[in-house]
Amino acid sequence: MEKAVRVRFAPSPTGPLHIGGVRTALYNYLFARRHGGKMILRIEDTDSQRFVPGAEEYILESLRWCGIEIDEGVGVGGPHAPYRQSERREIYLRYALQLVEAGWAYYAFDSAEALDALRKEAEAAGKAFAYNHEVRERLETSLRLSAEEVEKRIARGDQWVIRFKMPENEVVKMDDLIRGHVEVNTSTLDDKVLYKSADRLPTYHLANIVDDHLMEISHVIRGEEWLPSLPLHYLLYRAFGWSDSQPAFAHLPLLLKPTGGGKLSKRDGDKMGFPVFPLFWRSPATGDTARGYREDGYLPEAFINMLALLGWNPGTEQELFTMRELVEGFSLDRVSKSGARFQPEKAKWFNAQYMHRLSDAELAVLYQPILREHGIEVSDELAGRAAGIMKERASFVTELWDLTSFFFTAPAEYEEKQARKYWKGDNPRILRELREVLAAIDDFSLANTESVVHGWIEKQGYGVGQVMNTLRLALVGAGKGPGMYDVTSFIGKEETLRRIDRLFETLRPAE
Ligand code: GLU
Repeated sequence: MEKAVRVRFAPSPTGPLHIGGVRTALYNYLFARRHGGKMILRIEDTDSQRFVPGAEEYILESLRWCGIEIDEGVGVGGPHAPYRQSERREIYLRYALQLVEAGWAYYAFDSAEALDALRKEAEAAGKAFAYNHEVRERLETSLRLSAEEVEKRIARGDQWVIRFKMPENEVVKMDDLIRGHVEVNTSTLDDKVLYKSADRLPTYHLANIVDDHLMEISHVIRGEEWLPSLPLHYLLYRAFGWSDSQPAFAHLPLLLKPTGGGKLSKRDGDKMGFPVFPLFWRSPATGDTARGYREDGYLPEAFINMLALLGWNPGTEQELFTMRELVEGFSLDRVSKSGARFQPEKAKWFNAQYMHRLSDAELAVLYQPILREHGIEVSDELAGRAAGIMKERASFVTELWDLTSFFFTAPAEYEEKQARKYWKGDNPRILRELREVLAAIDDFSLANTESVVHGWIEKQGYGVGQVMNTLRLALVGAGKGPGMYDVTSFIGKEETLRRIDRLFETLRPAE
């Protein structure tokens, strides 16, 4: 029988979640949903040195904002709780000792100073120090010391670690769902630390394998930076006797800089003006801040759509996908091996596409807080209508104020260029006539006003452009904005006449 699909997102709370991490979570989620499986959130917080307060909350909040739902894990619970590794510490020692007993791992007592000295010695000889099969028999380990000596040292409280005893000169054969078959000779690998007595905590490798096993994970989908750890992980499964039930692996390609070379970093974002994190972040230690997609005005649907296509392609020309469509279309076969270059302009394009598809009511919800910031109190109906009229010209809801402020406030000043061009000659006289025409209209709806005014312009033989641009100067104060009847019907008759009067009162026509 096929194993039930169970995937996990397993971030370490070491700071804000990079968008590459969000993409990993997303692909796990899509894969789980595609196969009717479970999405698990495990927090890998065994590296106490790198723990950052607030990072876990940030991760949870980011996933929530993105619409990535967790079935089991931190914040949700489930049959394998706890899902925070720091709360599972009793479990790991047992497994580490099991490996020592089976000869797959050993105690090492080397002090930090001794290791430093070895490192310096190697450097002096122009080599990099590796704790491996070449040196381990000579060092302070249970491979060399007698059982009594080892016991004595542990009993008197000496610090120790448990290291994996990497086999010598063996080819580890691995399969990756994205990269295919991979082989690595173990002689190139060192003896990784699995457990440390100092903080009674496992390292990433041990905790990760034990938990994936206990939590019955079927597929490990994670970033490419973990590919070098894969041989060790394969060997750990073998050492525990779990090879038959080990998960399948898929290593996702890197997110690359917009310029191509290298991994997308916060520095790239700062330099080129785009966020590399989903949400705004303030470091509790330094107070440094980083911008986020949410606070920059992105819609979560657009952000997710953009991320989904960085590394996966649907095999068609389709670019816009709802989460449900992503679930239906997603497969690891279509995840590319090579890195995906991040394109800031494309991110904006996605946001524009989603924004243009919002209804007036949906826009109102997003636009009202911005209006309130500008001291404008209006109904949702009007907020949504203004936004709806202008949305096609914006990529972000945050751009709407500049595009729609004239719907809510009379011009405080008149743009010079526009005034010089239209506030002269016959135009003031014609505007006075137009005022009378408008004052006589009862039904100020867009269609009626348009038909009355155009009938009048035609009858008088005036130029439509001249008349409309002069009216625009009065109502908008500048050469921008939508069709004039959109504005008149929005602000109404009284306000239209008031703004025309104000133009006469405040601006003397050019000679
Ligand atoms: N804790 C690791 C990380 O921060 C998880 C890697 C994995 O998924 O195995 O990325």
